[in-house]
Amino acid sequence: MLKVGILLGDDIGLEVVPEAVKVMQAAAAKTGLPLDWRPLPIGRKSHEAKGLTMPQSTVDAVATLDGWLMGPIGHSMYPRNDPTWAKPDFRKRFDLFASVKPVKSYANIESLHKGVDIVFLREVTEGLQSSGVVVAGNGEFRPNDEISIGMRVVTRKGANRVARAAFEIARTRPRKKVTTVHKAPTYKLVCGMFAEECHKVAKDFPDCTIEDVLVDSFALKLALKPQQFDVVVTTNLFGDILTDEGAALVGGLGLAPGLCVGERQAMAQATHGSAPDIAGKGIANPFAMIMSGKMLLEWLGRKHGEVKAVNAAALIDAAMDKIIAEAKQVTSDLGGSASTSQMGDAIVAAL
Ligand code: NAD
Repeated sequence: MLKVGILLGDDIGLEVVPEAVKVMQAAAAKTGLPLDWRPLPIGRKSHEAKGLTMPQSTVDAVATLDGWLMGPIGHSMYPRNDPTWAKPDFRKRFDLFASVKPVKSYANIESLHKGVDIVFLREVTEGLQSSGVVVAGNGEFRPNDEISIGMRVVTRKGANRVARAAFEIARTRPRKKVTTVHKAPTYKLVCGMFAEECHKVAKDFPDCTIEDVLVDSFALKLALKPQQFDVVVTTNLFGDILTDEGAALVGGLGLAPGLCVGERQAMAQATHGSAPDIAGKGIANPFAMIMSGKMLLEWLGRKHGEVKAVNAAALIDAAMDKIIAEAKQVTSDLGGSASTSQMGDAIVAAL
């Protein structure tokens, strides 16, 4: 049975994560998929109970999971200079190398563009934020007060595995097209290696097409005609910037789900933060967290050959499309007046 962790996080995490669990449970029940749920303490609540934001018992338990839901962490509110209030570091610890972010427009949600359906894959363990490949520090140093130096790392392994994840997703989509975003003519070694590995991987996916777009030109094309892109794969910092640009094109933070994937495990995590300004009011939009959970089910299903999980994800997709299209039982940021849990209930009913 697939083991799925529930890590609430802070602030609105306590409100939106339970909605994601509720919807996933209902969809799994419809398709007959058994799931073994494991609630695990993390964040402020964990600090209050155990004196740590990420206790060793949570780390040990997460290591045994197939995947988990991770609520937003309110880390900027944690007191400084107290190591017991540390931002839990999941990507590095569990080698979750790709951040998968869909960018999709909805007909009746105000957005800069319509007809957009892109999946971004951003490598998140190396690049300019090379946290995954240094054992200490963060790849930056200042030899004297006049010079600061940042290190950008691309490895064949890192590029190859994120490219493979991109083609695996492209293969499941109608257009089957992967766009690699880099600047190989200028950064011949780092971007060059990234592009080379993407093209190597492409040979294993003859049913898909590959195109290269230089990062500056991509930023322009994305703003002007995002409909031309299907699956986009890129390095850490480029992806950091371009996924925010993508989210801005289709309606912003509340509608931006995400999944961090590794070789063995995946973590569902919305793009938005813990929104302390609206926490406890029951008005947070659960869309991004629910759709992150949906992505987790889909990934688990494909990874483990579990058709019921893929079907449960498809049910959530259809139910969400319906609720968004009706635009009645949605939260106020989407023009409705539903509470967080009323929107979750409506999606469950639509399943
Ligand atoms: P934020 O995303 O929490 O909030 C930005 C704005 O968007 C706020 O006005 C908020 O009310 C609104 N918003 C965010 N999510 C929403 C939702 N689901 N429904 C409706 N409105 C929503 O960003 P911030 O204010 O910069 O950060 C708040 C805290 O979150 C900080 O402590 C920050 O460090 C943390 N943070 C955590 C993560 C993470 O754990 N993944 C990511 C980003 C920020």
